[in-house]
Amino acid sequence: MVFVYLECYVIFNLLNDSRQIGAKMLKNRMVEMVEVGPRDGLQNEATIVPTADKLQLIRHAIGYGVRRIEVTSFVNPAKVPQLADAEDLVAMLPERDDVTYIGLVLNRRGADRAIASGRIDELGAVCVTSDSFGIRNQGQSSDESLAAAMEIVGLAKAAGRSGQITIATAFGCPFEGRVPIDRVVEMAKRAADARPREIALADTIGVGVPAQVSELVGRVREAIGDVPVRVHFHNTRGTGIANVWAAINEGAATVDASLGGLGGCPFAPGAAGNVATEDVIYMLDQSGFPTGVALPQVVDAAAWLTGVMGRPLPAMVSKAPAF
Ligand code: ZN
Repeated sequence: MVFVYLECYVIFNLLNDSRQIGAKMLKNRMVEMVEVGPRDGLQNEATIVPTADKLQLIRHAIGYGVRRIEVTSFVNPAKVPQLADAEDLVAMLPERDDVTYIGLVLNRRGADRAIASGRIDELGAVCVTSDSFGIRNQGQSSDESLAAAMEIVGLAKAAGRSGQITIATAFGCPFEGRVPIDRVVEMAKRAADARPREIALADTIGVGVPAQVSELVGRVREAIGDVPVRVHFHNTRGTGIANVWAAINEGAATVDASLGGLGGCPFAPGAAGNVATEDVIYMLDQSGFPTGVALPQVVDAAAWLTGVMGRPLPAMVSKAPAF
């Protein structure tokens, strides 16, 4: 009995030591945040949000310290009416040399629009892991979407902008289920040949779990060398924040989040919000990872956004007492 106890105690201490060593290596590493509320947060909202409110959301994000913001997407306005004001919004963006404005694009036409808008610093291209989702989402097979994404990075660079590639449905596809890790690693490897600013792994439908995130982020990082990894999670099944933690611990450099946890659509079952900016910042602050983002100001901004949307938002931290 005593022996068993001692053995457990020794194992416990060994585990504790290795955790502390891991934590020492990880702590104080800057984690970069991308605010995706203006695009991914709003794109499925049935009620059109006025352009002035979108602009205010962007001003809030700059105010709380985010320096990369996904402001809109340049897609068919008939398909995403919420973002039909892309050019108008971009024309009003605050002139800031220290802020990177990202525009999401799916093809050459979108890239041309984003570049012509004059104020988009970075083009975000999206490829998908399966043909069935690709055809429905963007009218491209998986391979076609990857080729288009690589072309978009080239167009961005030629226009003096940066370009990054997101692999959507990297953790699961609504039509084909679990996506084989080898498939995602292979796509990331090919995407890295375009020398994007970063490659993002996106859990578009929120089916990922931390063990899977650790494995995929680790394997993709191995495969793409010095190209940084960004992660994008939806909290559809409550695993969003745990997935962020798993990704950070595997060395992901950048995390997408949406103020208030906005995202998803009440008319599209299963489409839940992005991980909330305030929830991610609370976790990282309290864990010793600087982000440059001020939590009290995020919470203030979330209160403002709740008023704009006219309903409580999914985020937890902005509804809890200050701590
Ligand atoms: Zn998303």
